[in-house]
Amino acid sequence: MSAGFFFFLCFVVVGLIIWGVKVRQDDEVAKINAMSPDDRLTYLFGPRNEHLVCPHCQTKGLVHAKSIVEAVTSTGTVGGILKTNTESTTMVASIQHHCAKCSTTWKV
Ligand SMILES: [Zn+2]
Repeated sequence: MSAGFFFFLCFVVVGLIIWGVKVRQDDEVAKINAMSPDDRLTYLFGPRNEHLVCPHCQTKGLVHAKSIVEAVTSTGTVGGILKTNTESTTMVASIQHHCAKCSTTWKV
C-alpha cells in the first residue's frame, strides 16, 4: 500500500466521521423544530412544575425545572512562601429553571 493511498484513506475516514456528527446534529435540530412550543420547552428545560412561581414575572405554573450537572473551574493561589497557581474543576449539581412566560432561565 503506497503512502499516498494511506493518506487518502485517512482523509476519507476523517471526512466520514465529520459528516456523521453533522448529520446527527441536523437530526437533533429537526427534531426540536418539529416540536410544539410546549414540548420544545419540556425537552430543553424539563417538565413544567405547576407549583413553582417565577421570581421574575410572578407567574405561577409556567416554570420548567430540571436538574443539571456542570463543571465549575476555580482558580486561585495557594502556598506560604512559594505561591503556586492552582486550577481545579469540580462537578456541581444544581436545578435549572426556565419561565415560559418571560423566557428567563436561572439556576438554584
Ligand atoms: Zn417569568
